[in-house]
Amino acid sequence: MGKYVMALDQGTTSSRCILFDKEGQIRSLAKKEFNQYYPKPGWVEHDPHEIWSSQMAVAMEAMSQIGVDASEIDAIGITNQRETTIIWDKRTGNPIYPAIVWQCRRTADIVDQLEADGLGQKIRERCGLVPDAYFSGTKVKWILDHVEGAREAAKRGELLFGTVDTWLIWKLTHGQVHVTDYTNASRTMLFDINKMDWDQEILDYLDIPRCILPEVKPSSCIYGYSSELIIGGRIPISGAAGDQQAALFGQCCFEPGDVKNTYGTGGFLLMHTGDKAVKSKEGLLTTICVNADGTPGYALEGSVFVCGAAIQWLRDEVQIISSAPETESYCQSVPDTNGVYVVPAFTGLGAPYWDQYARGAILGLTRGAGKAHLIRATVESLAYQVTDVIKAMERDSGVRLSSLRVDGGASANNFLMQFQADLLGTDVVRPSCIETTALGAAYLAGLATGFWKNAEEIRQNWKLEKTFRPEISDAKREKYLQGWQKAVACTRNWAKDL
Ligand code: ADP
Repeated sequence: MGKYVMALDQGTTSSRCILFDKEGQIRSLAKKEFNQYYPKPGWVEHDPHEIWSSQMAVAMEAMSQIGVDASEIDAIGITNQRETTIIWDKRTGNPIYPAIVWQCRRTADIVDQLEADGLGQKIRERCGLVPDAYFSGTKVKWILDHVEGAREAAKRGELLFGTVDTWLIWKLTHGQVHVTDYTNASRTMLFDINKMDWDQEILDYLDIPRCILPEVKPSSCIYGYSSELIIGGRIPISGAAGDQQAALFGQCCFEPGDVKNTYGTGGFLLMHTGDKAVKSKEGLLTTICVNADGTPGYALEGSVFVCGAAIQWLRDEVQIISSAPETESYCQSVPDTNGVYVVPAFTGLGAPYWDQYARGAILGLTRGAGKAHLIRATVESLAYQVTDVIKAMERDSGVRLSSLRVDGGASANNFLMQFQADLLGTDVVRPSCIETTALGAAYLAGLATGFWKNAEEIRQNWKLEKTFRPEISDAKREKYLQGWQKAVACTRNWAKDL
């Protein structure tokens, strides 16, 4: 048995590799950013070769940092930016087009057409998703429509489609294995999450030949072995999950009702709902996650478009802070926001409002409002938005949140975490390892090879760093939330007809 498990964390802006030991401790970490391509307004692409080469570079760097070779690595786990779409030639291994990134809006018209043709409701029911250009399905269609000869080649079985997990596994195995896991499949808008199979009617509508799709497997199983030519040894590749699902697993959220929120650039809230695919009435997504034993389970997912990005806005556009961590002492320098609310609806509002015409606003200004109040109101807006999504999730699932596990860059802010606990009236729990995405991928891989015996052993590794307990009265909480609701109401529909 090797001493480490390697997590390959292929994100939207960087590729990272972390080597974890048996205690779930980080032993080495390497990170490399790669290029973003914006060929037209609203279009976002990556170079699949660069995704691969940056991922390999960090894998080598992480190994050499602590002087380990392939024989000391027990398993490889992969976690990835979700939905990003790659199609490549099976024989040459060359992508026929750049990777179309999840953020890319180029297929919005295909989605409008699909709604007009009456497929929208079927997608909601079968895939658990709100039809959107964000997911892979329409991106696959776009590539097959726009690259000359692609659809015919696909029909002849000469092309392969994959999300980033699939691409990396195919490359690592030197073109031997074409698979994905259930969590990534559930983000393609081509996969029926009830039947656990690709949906033929959606494939037919989008004119996507089934033969280009990967085989779908559990998130924790041996998919294949790394080629010796690639990493210098045959290592089992035995874990794969989309980034948010990996984080849910890394947080040990294995049971129905367990919830985690990631405070990154955007905010991602996931609630494990067990064997039940809960249909949302609040515009949340139903998606596949991973149970303690590695089998697929269901989760509800809600996102906050602008989370840590609001802090970046304070730093880069408003320029009243020079670094994100500075916000904490400003927040603590005043007793409250002096009645100021910031609603960072820069790109509209997501769940539970779903208002693409809402725009950001600063409300409640009086002569006494100063810099610290504005900063505090912006930081508080992260917690208000997460609270809105949690309330929607509670209404949908009928489950009352017992505590919230947190991770992501902005979860380091103690003021924010305390305010979050105050608003929710429940404990907010921060683990000592906030690299939960990579940790989740490592756990999935190590469980399949026996590096970790079972989920119980993993649970022992989960270390609490700090619990934030609610400290304010119910009356005060109500007053804060009423103010927020009033502020949100002012931003609604703002950009319509302007
Ligand atoms: P991502 O993975 O989306 O790039 P991270 O999880 O690395 O994001 O988190 C980075 C985000 O967290 C940034 O938007 C940054 O503004 C915010 N952030 C980082 N540290 C703090 C802090 N101490 N207080 C508030 N926000 C922070």
